[in-house]
Amino acid sequence: MKYISTRGGIQSVSSAEAIKRGIADNGGLFVPDHIPPLTDSLFDEIVGLDYAGRAAKVLSLFLDDYDGDALLADCRAAYSGSSFPGGAAPVVHMKDGLYMLELFHGPTCAFKDMALQIMPRLLSRALSMTGERRTAYILVATSGDTGKAALEGYRDVPGVRIKVFYPSDGVSDIQKLQMATQEGGNVSVQAIKGNFDDAQNGVKKIFADKQLGKELHAKGLMLTSANSINWGRLAPQIVYYISAYADLCTSGVIKRGEEISFAVPTGNFGNIFAGYIARRMGLPVKTLVCASNENNVLTEFLETGVYDRNRKFRQTVSPSMDILISSNLERLLYFTAGPARTAGYMKALSTDGRYEILPSELDEIRSYFRGGFTDEKQTLAEIKSAYRTTGKVIDTHTAVAFRQAELYAANASEPVVTVSTASPYKFAADVLSALGKKDDGKAGVLSPLYALSSYTKTEIPAPLASLENKPVRFSGAIDKAAMASSLLD
Ligand SMILES: *Cc1c(COP(=O)(O)O)cnc(C)c1O
Repeated sequence: MKYISTRGGIQSVSSAEAIKRGIADNGGLFVPDHIPPLTDSLFDEIVGLDYAGRAAKVLSLFLDDYDGDALLADCRAAYSGSSFPGGAAPVVHMKDGLYMLELFHGPTCAFKDMALQIMPRLLSRALSMTGERRTAYILVATSGDTGKAALEGYRDVPGVRIKVFYPSDGVSDIQKLQMATQEGGNVSVQAIKGNFDDAQNGVKKIFADKQLGKELHAKGLMLTSANSINWGRLAPQIVYYISAYADLCTSGVIKRGEEISFAVPTGNFGNIFAGYIARRMGLPVKTLVCASNENNVLTEFLETGVYDRNRKFRQTVSPSMDILISSNLERLLYFTAGPARTAGYMKALSTDGRYEILPSELDEIRSYFRGGFTDEKQTLAEIKSAYRTTGKVIDTHTAVAFRQAELYAANASEPVVTVSTASPYKFAADVLSALGKKDDGKAGVLSPLYALSSYTKTEIPAPLASLENKPVRFSGAIDKAAMASSLLD
């Protein structure tokens, strides 16, 4: 299988090359040149396997230049019981016809672990498969969860250095503490004054800066990304859609071939796009419900075909979805409109901040995507009503999607699976106040976690409980203009 650019051109590379480079030479994103089918016999095998086995099967379809045994070994190491004590991707029943796919049982308590526990292993192999001698310098712009998950995944991986930029006022206290206390000899964390789009644009500029690239090259460094634009992030996410379907078959909720739908809390469009690929492989997915918060640029796009980022950026209680440029949407455009039109749309986005797709393209997308947004009040109300009606404590991001799942399910007959992307403890202060409880703050940053635990009689996940005792290693914020020069320090 070859990987090509969403914006066309002749570049065509192996999956190892695509993972190493992160982004295509013409600024486009790498996509596979065809989508492998999920055959009946393959699905039969997958149903009988544990999560690591399922992951190796699915990944070997897309990463066909990797050795199969090596992939399996990497998946076993990445999705071990010690990294995911609650299981890698369990499906939990909420109430009639509604299920949760829990993706937050990893080391950083957010779904980013699903990709970032395996991706460093894939990159490490890609470096040796492509004869790379330089040190890979990974740059990440994060709205909170990616940064920590990447730091945790890449820490002390040989041949790799990682630097994470985050918006100083755009992440929760817990997220900040998680990053500031990061351990590892090859890691660096930098807060910037601005929002997530500033951080992401800053990183994109660095990648486009040929002069800086030369200077880094001279120091034996090669820039690459761990953001969800990297195919190494996307491919592992396809697995849990297929795994959830397999689990619902095994538990008798559905028969083979029956359709289900997914509701996905969406920011950069990476998670839901993996669901789209699973659907294209042949997984019986009826609808992908794209749930947004008040930064509802995708809801509007799915309604009107106009993508317009010229709007006020809003800071919400679901900060990992506070995004106005959903980078992975470019991949959906490629599969819907082809490379030439995609290149045009992306050009319009960078010059005018907006583009409009053809009515025929919108019709096609709308035949299996549906958009909806949940405002701040509704998000908090949803946390409370979910707790009252199901006894389950959900986080703010999950709540955004669970409300859209309930609205969608009211007129649907198939089971609807909400993709749950974070532990409620990661956003404990907001979850607690949504439940109508106040915390006196006396126990420091972790105070709301203790309060949430004692009120709901659930346990604080170990990786968060242990934060208290870790020393802060990174502090201070810089201007966004200083991002590039901070690399050379
Ligand atoms: C990253 C993240 C999202 C958004 O996922 P995308 O792939 O960017 O659409 C939603 N919820 C949480 C908790 C996240 O960390």
